[in-house]
Amino acid sequence: VINVDGGGFVRLVDSMGGDARIVQTARVSYGDGTKTVRSDAQLIDYLVRHGHTSPLEQVVFTFHIKAPLFVARQWLRHRMARVNEISARYSELPTDFHKVREFRAQSNLNKQATTAPLDYRLAVEAHAVRNVAQESAKRAYSHMLGVGVAREQARDVLPASVFTEFYWQMDLNNLFKFLSLRLAWNAQAETRAYAEAVLELARPVAPVAFAAFDEHVRGAVTLSATEVRALRKFLQATDRDGAQLDSFAHSEGLRESRRRELTRKVRG
Ligand SMILES: Cc1cc2nc3c(=O)[nH]c(=O)nc-3n(C[C@H](O)[C@H](O)[C@H](O)COP(=O)(O)OP(=O)(O)OC[C@H]3O[C@@H](n4cnc5c(N)ncnc54)[C@H](O)[C@@H]3O)c2cc1C
Repeated sequence: VINVDGGGFVRLVDSMGGDARIVQTARVSYGDGTKTVRSDAQLIDYLVRHGHTSPLEQVVFTFHIKAPLFVARQWLRHRMARVNEISARYSELPTDFHKVREFRAQSNLNKQATTAPLDYRLAVEAHAVRNVAQESAKRAYSHMLGVGVAREQARDVLPASVFTEFYWQMDLNNLFKFLSLRLAWNAQAETRAYAEAVLELARPVAPVAFAAFDEHVRGAVTLSATEVRALRKFLQATDRDGAQLDSFAHSEGLRESRRRELTRKVRG
């Protein structure tokens, strides 16, 4: 179990398969006639690099998550998963609400983004307001239940910081998609903290596949056509025959085939 800041957790319940399963599955595609002999790690790297993702779907994880409703709302947008969530009709929801530890200021440039931590004085005020609001919601929920309002209706008064719990089953291919989106700089920090916990728990199950994910998905960037044109013009002007780029890539440890690929990508 990894406890996540604010009061939630991520627990890996169990998993099926790992690097070996990916390799076994992928080798089926080659059939008997194949002449290519690749090491397992090279094969997994190849699959992830070239988006040959169906062997990854043979590795499956089940997590148990406790997260505030506003994180769960984002999480459950990842539809390629099997989910079972706590019923607030059947059970009383816990009122130990999620608590943001450090409030951030709203970005003026990006409506979905935040900037630096809120000024100390304003943050103290925000904490106080939040605590009063949560306390009042807690009392209201308990009051509603106390006068006999059904659980399914009493939750009318609960805030987005109420915790929910769910079991979440996901295959490795879709887990990579989830992680690449929710670990990105533009994901909400509270959700990112959960994605980091998922990554930490899942990585040991398929370490080679996760190394390939770091290399080809998480650590990679996509350039737009306009950005590629600008980069190519710049390289044409500064490194006419590509020799500098090739020699630099060589000094960075890229082998010949990778250098050819880099040249093709950035010089066209
Ligand atoms: C920073 C950020 C901001 C976001 N903001 C918003 C927002 O404001 N509002 C909002 O509603 N969502 C928002 N989302 C959610 C986003 O639009 C996606 O729904 C979410 O990231 C899940 O991605 P996905 O569809 O790739 O994953 P999954 O739903 O897990 O799907 C995996 C893949 O399966 C396929 N697939 C799944 N379902 C379908 C389908 N019904 N039809 C066709 N193909 C399907 C697609 O190929 C998809 O890539 C945001 C996500 C991020 C990361």
